Amino acid sequence: MDTASNIERALLAELRKGLTAEDSPLLRRVLRNNQIVLHNYRIEVIKDCRCALDGCDRSFPLILIPNQTLYPKYCRVHRSEFRREHHKSQRESLRPKTAVER
Ligand SMILES: [Zn+2]
Repeated sequence: MDTASNIERALLAELRKGLTAEDSPLLRRVLRNNQIVLHNYRIEVIKDCRCALDGCDRSFPLILIPNQTLYPKYCRVHRSEFRREHHKSQRESLRPKTAVER
């Protein structure tokens, strides 16, 4: 997708300038739901990735695509902001559990 690769180019340019999500609105917006994975794979490679949400131990397959650096950072369950907020409020209202509920 052209739009996606344009965003990636802009992101990488900002990272190269040494900007972080704190001083770049673009980085902040994109990194809310995504992570940047720098790789040199020439073919698609599937990696196991852990959900970035605090308290979620699920892992999910990340398909690394050549020349693509932007990938989701949450498991399928937590891709939507609503589900993440729900997860957070549940964590705050419940005592910590030893086992992950599914
Ligand atoms: Zn998750």
